[in-house]
Amino acid sequence: MIEIKDLHKSYRMGSNSLHVLKGINFKAESGELVAIMGSSGSGKSTLLNILGMLDVADSGEYTLDNVPIKDLSETKAAQYRNKFLGFIFQSFNLINYKSALENVALPLYYQKVGRKERQEKAMSYLEKVGLKEWATHLPSELSGGQKQRVAIARAMAAEPKVLLADEPTGALDSTTSYEVMDLIQKINDEGNTILVVTHEEDIAHMCKRIVHLKDGVIVEDKKIEQVRAQQYV
Ligand code: ADP
Ligand code: MG
Repeated sequence: MIEIKDLHKSYRMGSNSLHVLKGINFKAESGELVAIMGSSGSGKSTLLNILGMLDVADSGEYTLDNVPIKDLSETKAAQYRNKFLGFIFQSFNLINYKSALENVALPLYYQKVGRKERQEKAMSYLEKVGLKEWATHLPSELSGGQKQRVAIARAMAAEPKVLLADEPTGALDSTTSYEVMDLIQKINDEGNTILVVTHEEDIAHMCKRIVHLKDGVIVEDKKIEQVRAQQYV
């Protein structure tokens, strides 16, 4: 599904340059649930933004669903992003003056899905995340966990091939964090490919595979069974 080879990224600020990604090699198959873990500033968001086609690498290769990304024109890239990728952010990024239902329906509007189908689909995704009763409520009337559920329903509504979550539990207390991760696991069980960026070890441990990013390189890449086995040595 996803394959990157020798990816490099630097940020330039005036005459200074910060080399953030220093040759990343990574592969994720369809149906995986992968945590990208690392301390703050290790380049997790930079990597996820490149995977999400929100940013471009300086060099290296990125293939998404067998399509080499750098061959795409800007218009094609935007279409590709809307069709293949769903995003979940730490700060939810909901539209404050729109109801939960309208927020979820928004990607369908951009996909030119008709009004009735939009409403029905959005409602079914709200139901999936347990928020059917909250459809007409504004984000300001929802708890943090509920807001993130709406954001997850919105990301799923467009039926992307890959869901990218950047610190999805970063703004939530631990109980709510586990609930949101339970939901992410459930969505993964249904076959969705999901990458979760986090700096929290217990959140990473709720994924099936943990990739550890440090100083711009992947220093560890293990299935959760291997990680757990190691803990008891
Ligand atoms: P993480 O998500 O792991 O905390 P980031 O990918 O956000 O890390 O950032 C990695 C490094 O790159 C940090 O030192 C950060 O300050 C820097 N950085 C991130 N985005 C930019 C930017 N747009 N311009 C300059 N520096 C940036
Ligand atoms: Mg980050």
